[in-house]
Amino acid sequence: MKFSVLASGSTGNAFYIESDETRLLVDAGLSGKQIEGLLEQIGKSARDLDGILITHEHSDHVRGVGVMARRYQLPVFANEKTWEELDKQIGNIMDDQRRFLEIGDVLQLDDLTIETFGTSHDAVQSMGFCFFEDECKVSFTTDLGYVSQKIKETIKGSEAYIFEANHDVEMLRTCSYPWGTKRRILSDVGHLSNESSGEALLDVVEGRGEWIYLAHLSKENNMTELARLTVKNILEEEGWKDGEEFKLMDTSPIQPTRIKEIKRK
Ligand SMILES: [Zn+2]
Ligand SMILES: [Zn+2]
Repeated sequence: MKFSVLASGSTGNAFYIESDETRLLVDAGLSGKQIEGLLEQIGKSARDLDGILITHEHSDHVRGVGVMARRYQLPVFANEKTWEELDKQIGNIMDDQRRFLEIGDVLQLDDLTIETFGTSHDAVQSMGFCFFEDECKVSFTTDLGYVSQKIKETIKGSEAYIFEANHDVEMLRTCSYPWGTKRRILSDVGHLSNESSGEALLDVVEGRGEWIYLAHLSKENNMTELARLTVKNILEEEGWKDGEEFKLMDTSPIQPTRIKEIKRK
């Protein structure tokens, strides 16, 4: 499998993943033009896409879905509850492009298998995804207030984790957001702090040199260095070293990560 985190953060999210025969976007939370540009930067074309998977209906994940689906006749995969919300936001999607993918479903698209799991977030029914090609596994987990035991079991064994590290709790507490917003972000249906992210990763990473892409960083309440350092310190308590037993990678809201090919060792 090959993938790139095209853009990640509250300003817009899009993730690209491909197997030998299948090319997908997970979320399209930027304008159609921006997404086309990001794909070009990694040497890919939107024309070659086979579909868009939707995690949840927040605008930073679906802003460009309607345009992309209509421009390239792409099927869009979301669960039924999310579709009800999407219909209010993304304009008209032809019936034959509307695909229903519920929590717990396993979707087979040629050689790519997609497993869905529920996440705890203030959306109608948010999901994360595991991707499988042959023995290789990549998991995508962002926009969640906490990581349940079930999620940990589901994503364990991945060669690459795209995983949320949204905020530093101290920065969030002292920032200028209204209290209600802070409370929402900190809640079980909000976003993962750097610390919660590190602790959850400590339970799933096995020290096999897995790639960890820290994603959905808050622009106001986090810093790339701080997120990486916090997660790194937690994982290194295990006696592991960054770059050896695990490999931490940054993501950006405006720049795609270099396309990464993952093979099972
Ligand atoms: Zn989001
Ligand atoms: Zn969200």
